Amino acid sequence: MDKSFPPLSGFSSVAVHSGHKKDPNYAHQVPIYASSTYVYDTAEQGMRRFSGKEEGYIYSRWGNPTMTEAEEKIAALETFGLGIDVKGILHASGMAAISTLLLSNLKPGDKILTHFSLYGGTDEMVYKILPELNITSVIIDLRKLDEVEDIIKKDPAIKMMYLETPANPTIQCVDLEELSAIARRNGLIVACDNTFATPYLQQPFKYNIDFIVHSTTKFLNGHGTAIGGILLGRNIDLMKTRVTKVHRLLGGNSNPFDAFLLIQGIKTLELRMDRHCANAMQVANYLEQHPAVAKVNYAGLASHPDHKTAMKQMRHPGGMLSFELKKGLQGGIDFMNKLKMCVRTVSLGTCDTLLSHPASMSHHGVPKEQREKYGITDGLIRMNVGIENKEDIVADLEQALS
Ligand code: PLP
Repeated sequence: MDKSFPPLSGFSSVAVHSGHKKDPNYAHQVPIYASSTYVYDTAEQGMRRFSGKEEGYIYSRWGNPTMTEAEEKIAALETFGLGIDVKGILHASGMAAISTLLLSNLKPGDKILTHFSLYGGTDEMVYKILPELNITSVIIDLRKLDEVEDIIKKDPAIKMMYLETPANPTIQCVDLEELSAIARRNGLIVACDNTFATPYLQQPFKYNIDFIVHSTTKFLNGHGTAIGGILLGRNIDLMKTRVTKVHRLLGGNSNPFDAFLLIQGIKTLELRMDRHCANAMQVANYLEQHPAVAKVNYAGLASHPDHKTAMKQMRHPGGMLSFELKKGLQGGIDFMNKLKMCVRTVSLGTCDTLLSHPASMSHHGVPKEQREKYGITDGLIRMNVGIENKEDIVADLEQALS
């Protein structure tokens, strides 16, 4: 982008232009820099690059021009209108970004305070992998704000608050402003997974959140073409030192091709999200009145227990919902098998409508007892409402429910 241009005033303008640099060969789009390493004019230049005295690429595990454009674009969107700078580091996946976040900020003996209903992989990470490093977790209902501070005060080992809102797959929402204030008062690091909302719908940095993670695999890419993740932090020094070191050494780097696909997807984020949200509202209303449906979890419905929280911090209530069929597991299986246009698969955030069964798919690693406590019942179906015409989505659901 031409730096002399006045600041861009619209979200989509930032999504299209930010991060883009004039290409030395005048290419319109950022090239896919398929190069693992970078050359130096002289040995001295190599020394200067390694010592940080000279800016420049060294090795693509550490950074790559195509990846930089994606990092800068997402950082610009997550800070759009906030007047702050943050640094983003692109990763091979959402889980790689979460691993860097956790391993760069926690040490043996530390605890994470988090809540019911997280993405299944994050839940397993917190429950199964981190305890082997003597990093454990306290899992509570973070919507009960009056209990949170007492729990933190009683346990000085709690060092990080980890939030996911809206959460996968129950669409539970937690209050970013209140929880961030509690975390700050008590000296905790606070991180938020913003995958379901995207920066178009929700900007956790507005509430002083320290770190944001995304699975860019989802709405940011938008077309289901690449796995990816990003970790963004507002403490730029920390991001450039400890966090960069851990990222480079864990090796969960992205790659230029996936970064290229991500950049193309982000440019239409606002358009796509508006349509995802409008369709999701219609589908939620349709499902809520359907006699075969026991319960609909959608943050835009007044019946959703966290509706007020969602509307306080989100521009629109999102493109994700889940619902429970009255006939439980068998009803869910029959329904899924009858779908014609909508796609039976895990993942989310794509243009096409996707449905999955969390208990047997994304959350199969979470013990049944724990799952059910979180609201992830055997009959729960998760739906990424796509951007097709809403009449076609509803017609497919109607024939599958009948
Ligand atoms: N966070 C959320 C909310 C997710 O839904 C997912 C994956 O579904 C992840 C993180 C992990 O992302 P990835 O699959 O890109 O590693």
